[in-house]
Amino acid sequence: MIALVLLLLGGDDLAARAARLHREAIVADGHVDTLQRVLLDDSDLGRRLPDGHGDLVRFAEGGLDVPFLALWVDPVFLGPAAVKRTLRLADAFRRVCDAFPDRIGQARTAKEAESLVAAGKVAAVMTIEGGHAIDDDLAVLREFHRMGVRAMTLTHTNTNNWCDSSGDKPRHGGLSDLGRSVVAEMNRIGMLVDVSHVSDEAFFDALEATRRPAIATHSCSRALANHPRNLTDDQLRALGKNGGVACITFVASFVDEGYRKATESTYDPQGEEKDLLQKFGSDLEGFARASYARFRKETPKAPRPPLESLLAQIDHAAKVAGFDHVGIGSDFDGMTATPEGIEDASSLPRITEALLRRGWSEENVKKLLGGNVLRVMRESFGE
Ligand SMILES: [Zn+2]
Repeated sequence: MIALVLLLLGGDDLAARAARLHREAIVADGHVDTLQRVLLDDSDLGRRLPDGHGDLVRFAEGGLDVPFLALWVDPVFLGPAAVKRTLRLADAFRRVCDAFPDRIGQARTAKEAESLVAAGKVAAVMTIEGGHAIDDDLAVLREFHRMGVRAMTLTHTNTNNWCDSSGDKPRHGGLSDLGRSVVAEMNRIGMLVDVSHVSDEAFFDALEATRRPAIATHSCSRALANHPRNLTDDQLRALGKNGGVACITFVASFVDEGYRKATESTYDPQGEEKDLLQKFGSDLEGFARASYARFRKETPKAPRPPLESLLAQIDHAAKVAGFDHVGIGSDFDGMTATPEGIEDASSLPRITEALLRRGWSEENVKKLLGGNVLRVMRESFGE
């Protein structure tokens, strides 16, 4: 009986410690897709939305301080249309900041992020998903940087004119000469080279080309879930050596091998999009809206994986890349299925508590939650 009471007290003690730690830590998330719903549905992020994963209410409940808000450029938008799409998403970002100046602001440096958080606000970092957004033009890249874009995935699921994607046929054997110039220019102006989504060859080309820490904003480990979109142990080690950071994503099919296998045979997103592409033809806005509406209605196609699978991913990446080189990159509002226990952004404190239970030190949990991402920002942008 006494032992039971002590056990319960011990448990409460740990829960309280986890809650305090989570509150004190600056929590960063390498990849959040919530701007899509602002652009396509005009969603009001100021209130608690009934669906999806993120809004200012749930960011606050989950203690999410520094979300990287992605300008995701669907690969149906190519050339000048991709640039325009990026601008429209940047406008959505700006409209959210303008509507709630007391709750959210744009962070361009680690220092700006820290002062926004100290003032009780969300410090949102503008990022791009899909290197085709720059339309092969370094001037466009520079202008995006001036708007405050601080990271860019070199590709999305499409191979573009200068970088191969893990989700498409290779055309360059990794990174082309133009791709190397893009990386060099990103280093020079201060934009994180984001290697999530790229092919294995492009990953190592990018790591060889970059003079600064790279980031994988939303990837898991292939040793645990054999998806080509995930990082091999060699890649995790290379990111550690480069001083970069691997942000572990919550997407069920990247987290859990069982879920990946159960869903790969039945799920063909490209195939499902073909009918919409045909229907909308050159009306890309119409296509994007219909495609997003369909995505929002999707439900998990197999039982969701346990939280344990996500924790195993975090443990593995920390072990292989090092505790100084891991973070989180949820993909909130960009995925259909999350692990059990992670319902939305408000669930983030559960990860802190679970890691303490697994024996993680408070210092290492803090680094994972945001310390490492802020360090990389500081090293790359100054201050
Ligand atoms: Zn992605």
